[in-house]
Amino acid sequence: MSRQIQILVVEDEEAIRTGLIDVLVFHGYEVDSSATGPEGLSKALTGKFDLVLLDIMLPGMDGYEICDRIRAEDRHQPIIMLTAKTSDEEIIQGLTLGADDYVSKPFSIQQLVLRIEAVLRRSQVGIEQARSICFRDVEIDTENLSGRNGSEELTFTRREIELLKYLALHSDRPISREELLTKVWGYARNLDIETRTVDIHIAKIRRKIETDPREPENLITVRGAGYRLVTET
Ligand code: CA
Repeated sequence: MSRQIQILVVEDEEAIRTGLIDVLVFHGYEVDSSATGPEGLSKALTGKFDLVLLDIMLPGMDGYEICDRIRAEDRHQPIIMLTAKTSDEEIIQGLTLGADDYVSKPFSIQQLVLRIEAVLRRSQVGIEQARSICFRDVEIDTENLSGRNGSEELTFTRREIELLKYLALHSDRPISREELLTKVWGYARNLDIETRTVDIHIAKIRRKIETDPREPENLITVRGAGYRLVTET
């Protein structure tokens, strides 16, 4: 995919925040930022970011609580904590709450960029490892773009498989059309693209994996929130 990787920086110290943004933009990332805890959390919960760089001491809500609340919504969101000092206690608490890694301030740019690349690589591997997706009577082979629904043989397009993989990886929550457009199609954010593209693909997939596509049980619509793949029975 050729879209830019999107990183959210949540850091209240202006000099550090600005410095981080400059470095990340220089390395080709698209960056958004927040200077307060609550705003950082609400941006993170949009699910649009490939990575969240999260300071601990923040006005309004600290980084531990933000990390905890992001995890409650999305187990797979990559998060790197920015710890103020190399205090083992801070680091352990951050990692216990589910951060993927930490960087101690003051950090070297090289160290930070290496950590970011490593965390992003691991999250990409996670997506690619979904070789098969199974639920109810449906088995999908994501490598061969094929599958079966009971005794019926199925074939999928590459895009349908990418869409199913993303929905399967995030089956714990509904996914908005906008998120699917950015994460599966690779469109930049804020582009006024017809979300019908998503609906058309969803309809095509439903014809393959649902007993009655008008009454979907597997790929359901969550009103006002998006689509969810129900992989557990
Ligand atoms: Ca701070």
